[in-house]
Amino acid sequence: MPTVYLDHAATTPVDPEVVSAMMPYFTGAYGNPASLHAPGQEARRAVEAARDTIAAFINADPDEIVFTGGGTESDNLAIKGVAMAGRKHGDHIVTSCIEHHAVLETCRFLESQGFRVTYLPVDKAGMVDPDEVKRAISAGTILISIMHANNEIGTIQPIDEIGRIAREKGIYFHTDAVQTFGHLPTDVGAVGVDLLSASAHKLYGPKGVGILFVKKGTAVTPQLHGGMHEQGLRASTHNVPAIVGMARAIELAERDLSAEEGRLAALRDQLELDLLAAIDGVRVNGHAAERLPGNLNMSIEGAEGETLVLNLDMVGIACSTGSACTSMDLEPSHVLTAIGLSPTTALSTVRFSLGKPTRPEELSYVLDVMPGIVKNLRALRRNVR
Ligand code: PLP
Repeated sequence: MPTVYLDHAATTPVDPEVVSAMMPYFTGAYGNPASLHAPGQEARRAVEAARDTIAAFINADPDEIVFTGGGTESDNLAIKGVAMAGRKHGDHIVTSCIEHHAVLETCRFLESQGFRVTYLPVDKAGMVDPDEVKRAISAGTILISIMHANNEIGTIQPIDEIGRIAREKGIYFHTDAVQTFGHLPTDVGAVGVDLLSASAHKLYGPKGVGILFVKKGTAVTPQLHGGMHEQGLRASTHNVPAIVGMARAIELAERDLSAEEGRLAALRDQLELDLLAAIDGVRVNGHAAERLPGNLNMSIEGAEGETLVLNLDMVGIACSTGSACTSMDLEPSHVLTAIGLSPTTALSTVRFSLGKPTRPEELSYVLDVMPGIVKNLRALRRNVR
């Protein structure tokens, strides 16, 4: 049975062209970029070429790119790093209550260390109101961290406006762009962002590598202590194959970006329309227009989300109840409750996330099997009562 993979927000398959680009750096050009000899310098050139490619993609300077071990590490470095460096100026951070756990748990840790954090609410579509950001700012505010797009419901935040507010007030602005990097155009200068997190495995690159963009002059305390790699901001020997792979993934993303954005949105919109017509009691979560093109998050009355995901898996369809990190626990998602869903509705939710390999016939297959599965689950539920 072929798998219809509709969980690209959790992770993506590595593009074969990315694998080809990485291969020489495992067994051929395996030097340590910090070494002075020729193999080391060959690896160093590859890392610096990758840095140039990634910087150009977001209109940054190459020395504003810090390679990390992924999105979680980038978020930790940005938030803890700015908080620790800025402690003498203030102790207050503004974020939203629908951030990824990599941001929320970092903020909770900082609260345990004496920082104050404001978790802004969102509206029914999952949107942060820039006026609320403005109102939350006080004399002690040192950082605003608002994600570019939400991983569960796909809502794209008004980061340009929030960036403007941060700039006016002279406060650092971080955005977690893990879900948008390589999928939506990103220009760090235009947005007015000081720190931006991204991860390669969400854009057909390898797992375990990411970047943090750190605007020149931003005060950040390193969180890993050791060598002076990455301008002293992130010690540890570079993961050369992964870094090369991330840069190749960015080149491919840049080439395909605008065509893919339109193609995915059209496929997603059709799937949404078809499922709404075929199944009653369905509500679509997220913003109608400002939404990641491949994201479709739906609450289905009378169908428990995890059971539905497992039943879809049995017929070869891979999707999710929400974010991969929380899909093993039965707590309702913090994102879905924040947009006003009851715990029962939040627990009756599935997320489809389409990607480059997604084809229309795969979505037709979903449409063929899903109404029957939902009908059976509802009937089972009625019999149990
Ligand atoms: N931030 C967001 C919005 C995400 O979706 C994810 C992963 O799902 C992360 C951060 C964590 O990224 P990584 O898996 O590279 O640590």
